Amino acid sequence: MRGSIPAPGPATKRYGGNTPCVEVRCGGELLIFDLGSGARALGDELGLKPLNASIFISHYHYDHLQGLPFFAPMFGPDNAITLFGSPRNGQSVKQILAGQMMPPYFPVTAEAVFRARVEYRDVVAGEVLEVGPARVRTLELNHPGGNLGYRVDYQGRSLVYATDVEHGSELDSRLFDFARGADLLIYDSMYTEDEYHGRTGPARTGWGHSTWEAAVHAANASDVKSLVLFHHDPTRDDAKMDKLVRQVRKHRPEAIAAKESMVLKL
Ligand SMILES: [Zn+2]
Ligand SMILES: [Zn+2]
Repeated sequence: MRGSIPAPGPATKRYGGNTPCVEVRCGGELLIFDLGSGARALGDELGLKPLNASIFISHYHYDHLQGLPFFAPMFGPDNAITLFGSPRNGQSVKQILAGQMMPPYFPVTAEAVFRARVEYRDVVAGEVLEVGPARVRTLELNHPGGNLGYRVDYQGRSLVYATDVEHGSELDSRLFDFARGADLLIYDSMYTEDEYHGRTGPARTGWGHSTWEAAVHAANASDVKSLVLFHHDPTRDDAKMDKLVRQVRKHRPEAIAAKESMVLKL
């Protein structure tokens, strides 16, 4: 839930310092969104039992991928794992993921060490994917290099995973339609508007991220039930996060900020 780079340490203990990795259970299906540094802890928790998992990568910035080589289920020969992601720059999801696990960036290749049965699945934005009884919709978001947002619908419940999205483009209204009426909207709220516009340091426009104010607007415009603030700025310690959440709750009393190991039931 931390954005851009892990931020471990005593000052971020309560909200957590790991980068994005979200586990979603729909009946017996295991869906995972992104493999940031949080994927290591998730993999350890999943343990050694054989598993079937569908992993949806939003995009390939390090903070959404750096957990892949440390995700224990990749090493289990009885595991079946499908990795979904969008082709970018003429490369398939398989090529892109292989590209981050090779020298000089990494000591061993995926091919050499992964033992799970891994299927790579290229996704075109707008595609609707069926994972058992769950339906997963996809939407292109406004982020440098491209990024997929996902919406999961299962037995009348729904959540939208929209991290790494910069507000203020013509794509906003498409996202609001995409998220319409969802039970949960997980939304990039990395900055405050003051930070974004450079009133407290460098301007963050064009960096691909949104603000808590835009998160509130997105939640209102999409008519979602609950807002989850996500992709917290690595410099925002627990005390500052508490303050940010208090501000958001003046507008959306149900809003919460994602925390390490937090479990929500829809
Ligand atoms: Zn990110
Ligand atoms: Zn990004």
